[in-house]
Amino acid sequence: MRVLKFGGSSVANGERIAAVAAIIAEAARADRVAVVLSAMKGVTDGLISAARLAEQGSEGLKAAIEAIREPHFAAVRALFAPPDQAAALTPLAVMCNDLEEILHGVELVRECSLRTQDLVMSFGERLSCRLAVSYLASQGLSAALVDAREVIRTDERFGSAAVDFPTSYELIHRKLAGIDGIPVIPGFIGATPAGVTTTLGRNGSDYTASLIGAGAGASLIEIWTDVDGVLSADPRLVPGAFVIPGITSEEAMELSYFGAKVIHPYTMVPAVEKNIPLLIKNSLNPSAPGTLIAGSGAITRDGSRPVTGIASIEEISLVNIEGGGMMGIPGFAARIFGALARDGINIIMISQASSEHTICLVFRTAEGERALAALNRELAPELASRRIARFELIGGLATVSVIGENMHGTPGIAGRLFSSLGRAGVNILVIAQGSSERNISFVIEEKDHTKAVRTIHAEFLGRPS
Ligand code: ADP
Ligand code: ASP
Ligand code: MG
Repeated sequence: MRVLKFGGSSVANGERIAAVAAIIAEAARADRVAVVLSAMKGVTDGLISAARLAEQGSEGLKAAIEAIREPHFAAVRALFAPPDQAAALTPLAVMCNDLEEILHGVELVRECSLRTQDLVMSFGERLSCRLAVSYLASQGLSAALVDAREVIRTDERFGSAAVDFPTSYELIHRKLAGIDGIPVIPGFIGATPAGVTTTLGRNGSDYTASLIGAGAGASLIEIWTDVDGVLSADPRLVPGAFVIPGITSEEAMELSYFGAKVIHPYTMVPAVEKNIPLLIKNSLNPSAPGTLIAGSGAITRDGSRPVTGIASIEEISLVNIEGGGMMGIPGFAARIFGALARDGINIIMISQASSEHTICLVFRTAEGERALAALNRELAPELASRRIARFELIGGLATVSVIGENMHGTPGIAGRLFSSLGRAGVNILVIAQGSSERNISFVIEEKDHTKAVRTIHAEFLGRPS
């Protein structure tokens, strides 16, 4: 079996959905396929803003709901002949009415918990899949809508729930084995053991695709998006970024974790566990070969390049903890990590000076204030006794990561990297290198972000190799 996942831009309107159906039809001629779809482009953002408006009791709610309904109805008008439109519209209209009622409830209580927001967001993928199933049927393809909430089992961390792999794999396997046609599965959503709707974090449909692939024992997971594959850098930052024909799973994991939006960071986990390759393809340009992500044995690469790709994240903050109070005290780092973990805060990067005099922690700005509060609580005794100095949150930063399997054992990479940034006048605040030597990451001011990424791209990935 092959899993085909199509992102929001691939199902953005009727014309795009028709193109996707053609890709599915061709794949289904060669293989058994399962399809995972995102919400139509912009719909998840629209659902979140509708939830906010409902919470505020804003007049704008009606228009916000209309902005979700209309693209689906417009796609039906584009895809179906007039006599067939009513049958395709009815289930979508019913779902939109359900959504409206839920949002009306939010409006009444003026409160939208993360749990309710997950339910609201789930409508995006459920609507796009419902529409696609009707259209595939009209094209003579027998497709069956699978409710992802019956097969993706998660905990209750609403907004970014953790998946129970063994249970989900078992449920996926059983469900798909009982379906004759093409299963069409909404990405991004799951449910708790009690059946409460959850989401897997923004951009999570890629993750659903690899979970489905792992559960079904697929031979390939295809991620269809709006670029020709994994590029050497974010094409919005580096106009000269080019498609990488093949990367290892570890490189893909690092790239996505450090900001390459083309795949959700957890996507690689089920795929690696079950040894399933991924193929990143462009639904706007299906004949382009794409990027293969697989174990290193299956990847042929340009041996002359030490660096494979560059990823980066904006809206980063850091905290620098300094003072003699941590010197030689075992368990100090464990206390810091424990305090942050208890509050569910994700540390992106850590750097400790060898004198043990400073420890620097890097977070997403959205989590920065909570991180600062957790650290102040945990370190209150050391702060009171002045064994460590007061610390603050420094915002307005970006992380940049240079990733490449070939960096391992190649001397001089860091020298070249930081010299080129020095020449470009980019100031480096923190540096971290994984012991795998597959990744060098550093923190800079956000204003230097584009310049830094372009400088490194020119240094290591400028054409020709
Ligand atoms: P989808 O809706 O298909 O899930 P996304 O918008 O989530 O698509 O991801 C694809 C986008 O990721 C591309 O349009 C591109 O702008 C961005 N992107 C960032 N870094 C990279 C990279 N290294 N390679 C390819 N695309 C990247
Ligand atoms: N629709 C969700 C989002 O916009 C999930 C996805 O598209 O992957 O985040
Ligand atoms: Mg995506």
